[in-house]
Amino acid sequence: MKKPAILIPPYALTVVERLAQFGYEAYVVGGCVRDSLLGITPKDWDVCTNATPQQVLRVFRRMPVIKTGLKHGTVTVMVNHEPVEVTTFRVDGEYTDNRHPDEVIFVSHVEEDLARRDFTINAMAYNPARGLVDAFGGQEDLAAGLIRCVGEPDDRFNEDGLRIMRALRFAARFDFGIEAETAFAIRRNRHLLENVSVERIYKELKGMLVGKGALGMLLAFPDVMAVIMPELAPSFGFEQHNPHHRYDVWTHTAYAVQAAPAEEALRLVMLLHDIGKPSCYTQDEAGVGHFYGHPAVSADMAYAILTRLKSDNATLARVVTLVREHDNPFPTTRAGMRRCIGRLGEEVVAQLFDVKRADYAAQADYEQAEKKADLREAALLIEELMEEEHAFTIKDLHINGRDLMAMGVPAGPEVGRILKALLAEVQEDALENAAASLAARARELML
Ligand code: ATP
Ligand code: MG
Repeated sequence: MKKPAILIPPYALTVVERLAQFGYEAYVVGGCVRDSLLGITPKDWDVCTNATPQQVLRVFRRMPVIKTGLKHGTVTVMVNHEPVEVTTFRVDGEYTDNRHPDEVIFVSHVEEDLARRDFTINAMAYNPARGLVDAFGGQEDLAAGLIRCVGEPDDRFNEDGLRIMRALRFAARFDFGIEAETAFAIRRNRHLLENVSVERIYKELKGMLVGKGALGMLLAFPDVMAVIMPELAPSFGFEQHNPHHRYDVWTHTAYAVQAAPAEEALRLVMLLHDIGKPSCYTQDEAGVGHFYGHPAVSADMAYAILTRLKSDNATLARVVTLVREHDNPFPTTRAGMRRCIGRLGEEVVAQLFDVKRADYAAQADYEQAEKKADLREAALLIEELMEEEHAFTIKDLHINGRDLMAMGVPAGPEVGRILKALLAEVQEDALENAAASLAARARELML
């Protein structure tokens, strides 16, 4: 195995070295070591040490420190405006709720601290003096691309059910597999997720969905997904009996997730876009399956699920809109497309392209060329409309309510009525969006 290249940035190295100068042991640890060994730039550098929080505070008394995690042994030291979390070696006390340890106990050896961490690839520490401390085979699992629990998987998931989702999230992020014993334990203990707060689950879920290995996780662990979203269960293995589809609803869903750009909202849209299909299923005389009305049903289910997961409102609203719209064909006329952009906004329409592309990519070959051609046509039409003096909403008109009132229109509903009528005519290409022609037409429309 080649020598690990762990280049600690100066601000974090300062922390490790200053602790060492005062006779303490200190290491960078966890995600930053893992990412460095993978050749990825770590997003933050965490330090662990045998100094107690009070000792850490003394060593860094001249620097700004934040005492947020003090009772768990964590002090955040600011070095050149960069935060470094410094945590005293610790083990967790009893877990009585599969969530929070009832207490933390400080310990003296780094190996004991590493033993309480979740996965072998996250349980390595490093400092320039001692080199890499890898007591659980983290390097080997990194090389093999495996997520493996430190210690007995059943015990570890019982301590903290969230680790089930963390395993899927890390595997998806790095496109790793999950080691067999760990994978069995995940399935066996999946119900423990019911004891974990929805906020923590939702965060890990989004992290998993945007990973490059999301497809593999969704296909391998549908039963885990069903603990978080029982509404998904009817999709598993649900055959579509339709020439547009090569996969059952869940397999299609998983492929559609992976085919979408790696953005949380878009991946959530694909996860939920067909969730209402099983309840909308009908079969015609020819034996072909149909799912009339499924986008609206899926959108309502998406609303309920994301509300339950305490999603932020912006994501919730965006996902529900895109799920509701995912199956509507784009308008083919200039007026229709203008109305569509006016109704949804440019950003949603742009995302709708991503959604449709991902949906098509996860369907059968049947009519693929036509579907792609339709999208290309719609994109061209939008491009043309954008280059023109466009008016998708009343705000885009080169006349406003104040202009109308100056012309003698009484303040009140009449102003809105005329603006709406003007917009409709501009969208139909029956009227030019220019101040003079708009004013002239407004005079005709005035009662
Ligand atoms: P990321 O890049 O996503 O931040 P990370 O490995 O830094 O990855 P964090 O959630 O920031 O993940 O946690 C930092 C470290 O703390 C992990 O590497 C792991 O060693 C340990 N850890 C975090 N959460 C848990 C947990 N629920 N159970 C056990 N160990 C954990
Ligand atoms: Mg981290």
